[in-house]
Amino acid sequence: MDSNYQAFLVGGGVRDLLLEGSPKDFDVATNATPEQVRKLFRNSRIVGRRFRIVHVRFGREIIEVTTFRNDHSDDKDNNASKSEDGMLLRDNVFGDIETDAKRRDFTVNALYYNPHSGDIFDYTGGFEDIHHKTLRIIGDPVTRFKEDPVRMLRAVRFSSKLNFDIEPKTSAPISEQAPSISQVSSARLWDESLKLFMSGYSASIYQQLIDFGLFKTLFPGSFEQIQNNPQVHTFFENAMRNTDRRIQSGKRVTPAFIYAVLLWPEIQDRQKQLIADRVPPLEASHQAYQQVLSRQIQLISIPKRFSTTMREIWDLQARLPKRAGQRAFRTLEHAKFRAAYDFLLLREQSGEDHHGLGQWWTDFQNADPVAREKMANAQH
Ligand code: ATP
Ligand code: MG
Repeated sequence: MDSNYQAFLVGGGVRDLLLEGSPKDFDVATNATPEQVRKLFRNSRIVGRRFRIVHVRFGREIIEVTTFRNDHSDDKDNNASKSEDGMLLRDNVFGDIETDAKRRDFTVNALYYNPHSGDIFDYTGGFEDIHHKTLRIIGDPVTRFKEDPVRMLRAVRFSSKLNFDIEPKTSAPISEQAPSISQVSSARLWDESLKLFMSGYSASIYQQLIDFGLFKTLFPGSFEQIQNNPQVHTFFENAMRNTDRRIQSGKRVTPAFIYAVLLWPEIQDRQKQLIADRVPPLEASHQAYQQVLSRQIQLISIPKRFSTTMREIWDLQARLPKRAGQRAFRTLEHAKFRAAYDFLLLREQSGEDHHGLGQWWTDFQNADPVAREKMANAQH
């Protein structure tokens, strides 16, 4: 960038550079305003409402360029930028590198690297914390979690991913502050939940979410099921471990699967109650889907295309035991068969006994056409 402006690599990129020697992510912080950045790079555009950021394209990479911000929380003229309970509503007041560092979330995310000189600027002790594998929030933990409750989820995510300990003063208020996560917009919580569950570290993240009471706030219905039945906890744990394994071996994962898992125990519970109230089984399952989903999306807005897949996975659980005649063949051809089969295996692995149903489907898939006919005919 032009020598008239300062520009630093910042955030996850610097952190990962120090930890692993290679950044995945290039975020740039500068003293140039978005408009000035926009003028410097032809391939750039200004994005974002809450935060105004410039995206600069270099070939296939998009670099996020943010202008140094100021923490204006103690600025008396700016009271309107926080809600009554301390939540940050606007964050667009420009500042310098030092004020910019103080408004970031964790010390390890607030290191500034000057690519020309190779210097690292550290205003919060992040360098030391990386060395000690410590995740420490910048400033007063309660204030910072109130400003943005998502920082609690980020604490859990980074500590699991980096294998860092959350510093005691940082972790102390989380359990008490956990309920405030429900004030975050449901769209943002959906995005954050993907980072939690699709990161490759979901088993550890899940356990921490439980321990801090964050899971209870995010998935109240599912949490109730865990409390009523320890097998549900095993089911969730196994699902997270499976997902992590799939990610590590480069296999495809979909949030629909993990969400189908998380809501399944409650769906089944609901369905049982409806059937006890004499609702016909098929009607009962659709009412159960509807009731459980509509409650969950108030907190986390699950996009339609995923909830559709979830319903298909759930529907297929009732179809998998029915294998006579052409039924097994039709089920096998369903677009979501593979996910539904994995789901069944997970249920069995977590203590449900379906008398060899999972094994039957494993054999059926591996069998040649003649053997498949025989297997299907043996069903009635
Ligand atoms: P990842 O590896 O997940 O991308 P990251 O640290 O780069 O990790 P981003 O979400 O990409 O995380 O954010 C970039 C930087 O912006 C962070 O390192 C942090 O300095 C700052 N930041 C992001 N979210 C917040 C937040 N909620 N509050 C304060 N600072 C934040
Ligand atoms: Mg990043």
